[in-house]
Amino acid sequence: MKQIRRCQGCSAYTLMERCGKCSFQAVVPKPAKYSPEDHYAAYRRKAKEEQLRAKGWL
Ligand SMILES: [Zn+2]
Repeated sequence: MKQIRRCQGCSAYTLMERCGKCSFQAVVPKPAKYSPEDHYAAYRRKAKEEQLRAKGWL
């Protein structure tokens, strides 16, 4: 199934990978599908911990 994409240059909507007007890359503007299992939670927590350690809060 084709998904609607939005141009990163001129914000026009298109079904193609690249914008027809300015040939910038067009991306799917929707966020990733929500999952209660949260497959990337471990990475998110690790990144947060690194941020806090960099600030000296841990
Ligand atoms: Zn464009």
